[in-house]
Amino acid sequence: MKVHHLNCATMRPPLVAGGIVAHCLLIETDRGLVLVDTGFGTHEVSDPEATIDGLSRRLLKPVLDIEETAVHQVRKRGYTADDVRHVLLTHLDMDHAGGLRDFPKATVHVLDTELAAATNPKGVKERARYPKAQREGVTFRTHTAQGEAWFGFEAVRDVPGLPDDILMVPLIGHTRGHTGIAVKGDDGWLLHAGDAYFYRGEVETPPSTILALRITARQTETIREQRLSNVQRLRELKERGEAEVFCAHDPVELARLA
Ligand SMILES: [Zn+2]
Repeated sequence: MKVHHLNCATMRPPLVAGGIVAHCLLIETDRGLVLVDTGFGTHEVSDPEATIDGLSRRLLKPVLDIEETAVHQVRKRGYTADDVRHVLLTHLDMDHAGGLRDFPKATVHVLDTELAAATNPKGVKERARYPKAQREGVTFRTHTAQGEAWFGFEAVRDVPGLPDDILMVPLIGHTRGHTGIAVKGDDGWLLHAGDAYFYRGEVETPPSTILALRITARQTETIREQRLSNVQRLRELKERGEAEVFCAHDPVELARLA
């Protein structure tokens, strides 16, 4: 399987030098193209006021460049939007699920608890984070976090209909149905850790952090204890060299892999 690393949304939140990215994967498989996360899509670029709430626009300062949308980057590689048959989502936050409507032929795979959080949100945080319009007309297929052990992670599962070297690695904490996506590429396992952490230093040994992104992680978390224990396990995975670990938003990790 050939894996491409894409930036599907540059954002410039205040106090984060260098900005952040939306690190997505485009995977060429024998079942068609598979995307991992979608960043912001054409709907957000063409009408941000209608698709991204005012607070998020101020906090994230998205650049919204049509050339960064996943569908544009798919076409640039000579494919059509309809060639994307599957989208795997780490979670349903708007900067990860924004482009879903650009891929009408795709089945969108999420953990069942994540879709439940979006459709039946509990509390202020959940009610604010999942815009309904992003899910309109989208074909979801939900999966329960139930499976086997994988390098110290539990309940890791394959995705029916996809090659068995693509796995969901539940990393609950940022949201209640947040998952990592593991892909076995030509050079071994890659683990897209979504928003399990925001800054590369968090999973280095010894760990380091930057204040603005540590605050962001806390402000956007749903279950703190699980989030922190997953960061610890990701750090161990990285230290042992068992997988190439990266998160959704770190531009240095993306540059290393792209
Ligand atoms: Zn995010």
